[in-house]
Amino acid sequence: MDVTPLPAPTLGPLARLAPEPMKVVLNWGRRYSLWVFNFGLACCAIEFIAASMARHDFIRLGVIPFAPGPRQADLMIVSGTVTDKMAPAVKRLYEQMPEPKYVISFGACSNCGGPYWDSYSVTKGVDQIIPVDVYVPGCPPRPEALLQGILKLQEKIARESLGERYGAGAPSVAQLTSGLV
Ligand code: SF4
Repeated sequence: MDVTPLPAPTLGPLARLAPEPMKVVLNWGRRYSLWVFNFGLACCAIEFIAASMARHDFIRLGVIPFAPGPRQADLMIVSGTVTDKMAPAVKRLYEQMPEPKYVISFGACSNCGGPYWDSYSVTKGVDQIIPVDVYVPGCPPRPEALLQGILKLQEKIARESLGERYGAGAPSVAQLTSGLV
């Protein structure tokens, strides 16, 4: 009888090749455990807070408030006016988030400068400094609009292939679950 031990399973290639059942399970877990890092910059942040409270309760959608800092977060919600002075801090905090990471731009100011589109001191959209996955329009958007934005992001994550997102550099499942990516 052959007693040669089987090689230890390596999860990295599974994540990269993303066989359908693996992808479904992985993405299901990822989209319903989004630790959110709130980057509230102005009035829109109040609507964000309302969305997290009992009436709208975005926790039921799998969004966990609030990550203690960017290094623990999966999702950054930029809500408010991004000034040119603040923009480097937004970029730096985004870069500190582990992959895979997502951004929701919440409100007109964050989307394009909003009412301050012609101000000398306002960045005309947070997407000029970091990639944005979902834009939520409004000045301010209602909390329900944020819930809609979260659902859109979850649809995107459900379809996502980590192999396509990262190419050969896709993190392994072990890396993803250890938070070391
Ligand atoms: Fe305030 Fe409107 Fe800008 Fe939101 S979009 S931060 S409500 S001015």
